[in-house]
Amino acid sequence: MILRLVKSVTDEQIRFLEDRIVSLGLRADVSRGIERTLIGLVGDTSPIDPGLFTELEWVEEVIRVSRPYKRVSREQRPEGLTIRVGSITFGGPEVVIMAGPCSVEDRPSLLSLARRIQKAGAHALRGGAYKPRKSPYSFQGLGREGLLFLAEASRETGLPIISEATGLHHHRTPAGALEEATPVDAVIEMADILQVGMRNMKSYGLLEEIARRTGPLKMPVLLKRGESATLEEFLLAAEYLALHGNPLTLLCVRGIRTFENQQYQRYTSDIAAIPILKRESHLPVIFDPSHATGDHSLISPLSLAAVAAGADGLLIETHESPRQAISDGRQSITPDELTDLIVEVRRLSGVRTGRDQIPAL
Ligand code: PEP
Ligand code: MN
Repeated sequence: MILRLVKSVTDEQIRFLEDRIVSLGLRADVSRGIERTLIGLVGDTSPIDPGLFTELEWVEEVIRVSRPYKRVSREQRPEGLTIRVGSITFGGPEVVIMAGPCSVEDRPSLLSLARRIQKAGAHALRGGAYKPRKSPYSFQGLGREGLLFLAEASRETGLPIISEATGLHHHRTPAGALEEATPVDAVIEMADILQVGMRNMKSYGLLEEIARRTGPLKMPVLLKRGESATLEEFLLAAEYLALHGNPLTLLCVRGIRTFENQQYQRYTSDIAAIPILKRESHLPVIFDPSHATGDHSLISPLSLAAVAAGADGLLIETHESPRQAISDGRQSITPDELTDLIVEVRRLSGVRTGRDQIPAL
């Protein structure tokens, strides 16, 4: 970190800064030029809040030289992290396909869909038991019962489960009862991968708790990028998980909010984020074409674009009768469409070897 000071800076102000830097356990390297004075902070500056300096009126600019997300950085593990869940590997040569309904709706439809997803060649079953909905009157998910259906589907098909944990509150089931276990604890108990939804990417206390509970179990967390989060904020949210005990994070890009209205696409698919995240971080990167586009007809082209850009996996909403889905039917594909897509993904991932990383700027 380098501080660029104003022209009129006094010796006393420089001394103040030197004392502050030393009190942070770092060394201050003062360089007085004719035009400007610079102070270099020597040591590990990753935990230093630049606000400690930007608020002083004689500091003109704080320039970061090293990344603020140290634990999840590419530098920390240049070869990239591989995360294993049962027999599947994230961050390896194969693109991991996770498919399933937006919401778990009932036992027969989930079991039937899980069988078809497995036949299609997917590696994991997704399904929301706890749903984060805009309206408190919308279907909030089956809760623990939904997780029990997912666990049964997993036993039958051998597919590992990914499901969202919405918080540390007590979920009210559709029948009106309050559940004893929180969504976080229920998902930890019954799923293989815990999903943090885009709305919770900035719930830092929740991230800490999730990391503390999942870390010792070596349970991976799929962290979705917030709809308005910068890539730095996204990586810092992953840093929270790593710092508090869980380094096994899957970064999931799922579209961001721009000036685009929902007439054509629900969010804007930020495909460039995929190679950028892979350059900046060693964590595997997943793309969710369903939430990114909001439109089933865009899932195949966007999935292929993401794979070409280096995505390590795809999270795809799938439903046997999308028109009848309780939530997100418009952005769900059928098992037959999934089968075709997986064939195309395999073909494409076979030719992209060696293109996973773009050079640093
Ligand atoms: C989901 O995966 O069903 C979901 C609610 O995703 P997001 O957090 O991206 O909206
Ligand atoms: Mn959904």
